[in-house]
Order: sequence, then structure tokens, then C-alpha cells
Amino acid sequence: MKIIRKPEELQKTIEELKKKGKTVGLVPTMGALHAGHISLMKKSVSQNDITVVSVYVNPIQFGPNEDYEKYPRPVEHDIKVCKDNKVDFLFLPTNKTLYNDNFSTYIYNNKLAKIMCGVTRPIHFQGVCTVVSKLFNIAMPAKAYFGLKDYQQYVIVKQMAKDLNFNIKVIGCPIVREKSGIAMSSRNTYLSEKAKQDACGIYKSLCLAKKQFSAGKKLNDIKKNIEKNILAIPTSKIDYVELRNSENLDLATDKDKSIVIAVAVKVANVRLIDNIVCKK
Ligand code: AMP
Repeated sequence: MKIIRKPEELQKTIEELKKKGKTVGLVPTMGALHAGHISLMKKSVSQNDITVVSVYVNPIQFGPNEDYEKYPRPVEHDIKVCKDNKVDFLFLPTNKTLYNDNFSTYIYNNKLAKIMCGVTRPIHFQGVCTVVSKLFNIAMPAKAYFGLKDYQQYVIVKQMAKDLNFNIKVIGCPIVREKSGIAMSSRNTYLSEKAKQDACGIYKSLCLAKKQFSAGKKLNDIKKNIEKNILAIPTSKIDYVELRNSENLDLATDKDKSIVIAVAVKVANVRLIDNIVCKK
């Protein structure tokens, strides 16, 4: 595995490989790699000749009072995980190499970035779209892998690729969970053992909601039940519980056949997101 830090160097290397007919898969991450990230890497390795993983904590997707400074950065661990999983190139850019002094071009989804997580994190998806489009231009992959754990991000990136004619297939990969049911996340390290146990209630409430959806229960009632179950979790605070069309994130109606139930909840003051796709 080769570690590359400069965007131009990765771009040049990939250009050469593509000339030789190699296909490229990209897995963008913020590091502190866990089994969720590994599932994306494995998929890319199985579907492409070359896999590029980027590890970069992107400052422009964090709001002023968010966890940019304290976000975990275990670089040696991340290098080992990538090596162990047959990644070809690990891209480790810096703020300086990625954002020039006059950087002033941003990409913003005018519809999907305003809902759900976008309500309390107004600049988040602009930061995500901007850095992902840069990574698309640098790694020039045929396929890019995103986790459905960040469902709204997945839909927004897919829409961006379509809207801006990126010739890249955006592939959504299933949520990897711990045995307890909690969705794996680099931010889980902020939780105490007790808070982690409490947080399992989030997934339980989503599973129950999924059963209720298949059984034909009205969306309003499903939503009320989730809220009740989540509020029963000690220290929990609901940011949102949303039922949306799983394709375009429009508000779900009782006629929808496939919806995503997405939640953002603070447990012990740590903001967690989770979701479940439900079909009738
Ligand atoms: P992050 O490092 O948190 O920005 O995540 C990088 C990529 O890994 C994103 O596409 C995430 O959706 C994905 N990811 C993170 N956690 C999980 C998980 N538990 N299961 C599947 N994918 C995940």
C-alpha cells in the first residue's frame, strides 16, 4: 500500500493507472476506522482493480461548536487497517494541500441540505459535497462507496453526482452494527459504557417501527411510538425523528412503499444518528 499526501500526486498516479485500463474505487472517510469502514473497503477491493481510501477530517463540514478539534485521529491504526484490507492507496491530505489560501468555491444542495441533519448543521452538507467533489476529481474513481449509516449524506452525494455529471457510480453499503445493535461510528468512543448500553434503545425503537410499517400502521402513530421509546432512554434528547421517502427524502406519506426512518438523538450529550429502511 502506498500513502499519498499530495492531491496532484494521487491524480497523476491514478491517471497513469487508468491509461493502463485499471478500474478505481474510492472510499472517503474521516478515519478512526472501524468495521463499518472496512465493509466499504472490502466491497471496493472486490469490485475494482485499485482501491483508494481517503482519511481526512474535513474542517469545512464542522460547525463552530462541533467536535472538529476533538474528533479522533488514530493515524497509525488507520494505516494498519488499510494495509490489512488490501487497500492500494491511502490518501492523507492536509488542510493546506486540499484548501488553497484563496479557496472560495463551494457545492451546496439547495433542497436536501436544508432538512433533517441540515436543520441543526446548516453548513455540514456543503462541506461534505465540496470535499467529496474534490476527492472525486482527485481520485477519478468509477465507483465510490458510502455507508447507509449516513443516509442523508448518501442521497445527497448520489444527487450531486447526477446533477454535476460526475461519471461515478455512488454505491450505498449496509449499516454495520455492534452486537448490541448500536450503529458503528467513530463518535461512539465519546460514549461511556453505560451510555452505549442506553443508546441501544435507538435501534430497538427503529426495529419495532419497521415491523409496524410492514403491518400497515399509520406513519403518525409510528412516529409517536418511536419518540416515546427514545425519550424513555436515560439522558436522551431528540434532535429529530423523520419518516421520509427512501429515494428522494420527501416527507413520507401513508401511500409510500419504501421509506427511511431517520433519527438524530443525543445520549449523554453525544449526538448519534441512525436509520432503518422499511418496505411494504
Ligand atoms: P466517516 O468516517 O464517519 O465520515 O464515514 C466514512 C464512510 O463510512 C461514510 O460513507 C459512512 O457512511 C461510512 N460508515 C460509517 N459508519 C458506518 C457503519 N456503521 N456502517 C456502514 N458504513 C459506515
